[in-house]
Amino acid sequence: MTVATGAAVTGAGASGGAAPVVELVGLTRSFSGSPPVQALAGVDLLVREGEYVSVVGPSGSGKSTLLHVLGLLDRPTGGDYLLDGVPTSATSEGRRAQLRGGRIGFVFQQFHLLPHRTVLENVLLATLYSGVPRGEREERARAALERVGMGHRLHAAPTTLSGGERQRVAVARAVVTGPSLLLADEPTGNLDSVSSAAVLDLFDELHAGGLTLVVITHDPVVSARARRRVRISDGLLAEV
Ligand code: ADP
Ligand code: MG
Repeated sequence: MTVATGAAVTGAGASGGAAPVVELVGLTRSFSGSPPVQALAGVDLLVREGEYVSVVGPSGSGKSTLLHVLGLLDRPTGGDYLLDGVPTSATSEGRRAQLRGGRIGFVFQQFHLLPHRTVLENVLLATLYSGVPRGEREERARAALERVGMGHRLHAAPTTLSGGERQRVAVARAVVTGPSLLLADEPTGNLDSVSSAAVLDLFDELHAGGLTLVVITHDPVVSARARRRVRISDGLLAEV
């Protein structure tokens, strides 16, 4: 294992020439308190288009903090984060929201589907601010749900679905806008092994289709499916 302080964690191999999607440069995130916590302690990371990366690490190592920064849900306290080459750290909240909505898809452990909306409506809502007309948005939502094998449950309430089905709907919602980056935080944390395998198969398909994936997990089975593994420990990254 190589310690990544000072040297960029760049990955290697097949994606070497592809455009950078994520570039973290000396990134820090501290929380004030006594004592203050440096949840990210100077992180360098380069993820190129089409890569499938897992980030593994124990509880408290900084995984969620990293995901929130990558998802533009939180700002770093130091360093920079370029998404698709666009600097984001000192950018206005409005512009960050626009980048988040247009370029990032999220999959969370708890699915976060709206319980009083149908499956189709949940996916449609993600396209609301895309500027695309309603008819075409609906077509895309249906296509995304077909793609995850949920085209037969368009009008179901999420509460009537199994965990695995809910997570497949959440994946459809994450990809319907055609994001540059799919971020997943413990995506199989609430699933049985069969449903987990189905979600991981779906990630493989999305990867094969050219999507860039960063999956945060403490599960070795999930981590093993990624093509590249990065370990986080005490707010620092290292290639595994
Ligand atoms: P993980 O997701 O790997 O379990 P986190 O990113 O949630 O780790 O947390 C990393 C460290 O930062 C921990 O020590 C945690 O207590 C601290 N931390 C996270 N969020 C906050 C916060 N809002 N305020 C203070 N400390 C925090
Ligand atoms: Mg966490």
